[in-house]
Amino acid sequence: MAEETIFSKIVRQEIPTPLLYQDELVTAFRDISPQANTHILIIPNKLIPTANDIEESDELTMGRMFTVAKKLAKEEGIAEDGYRLIMNCNQHGGQEVYHIHMHLVGGQPLGKMLDL
Ligand code: 5GP
Repeated sequence: MAEETIFSKIVRQEIPTPLLYQDELVTAFRDISPQANTHILIIPNKLIPTANDIEESDELTMGRMFTVAKKLAKEEGIAEDGYRLIMNCNQHGGQEVYHIHMHLVGGQPLGKMLDL
């Protein structure tokens, strides 16, 4: 059993964080250290540590993460100009919190996809 992170506590609101969206599958809230004018995290309510741990039974949840991202991008007023959806995996991907999350970033031009 993987160890819970702070994100599970945010899902349960044990750490009060303003939520932008929550349903039975996913939760969305603003990143504490925004890297762009808009920086939102969309996470599954259940703990999935990394992209390597996603299973077929999670496909509905993964799809919901995308439809929620689309909805929030529209609400933020960034849908037409565009935005980027990012999921980092493990060390080379730069993952810091081991509870998968989709970064929704935008609100400004984001430049090249990778800065290696
Ligand atoms: P990663 O590097 O794992 O893809 O991204 C983790 C993200 O979670 C970072 O952008 C970081 O700023 C954000 N983060 C870490 N702890 C917290 C927290 O307690 N609250 C919020 N809202 N964001 C957090």
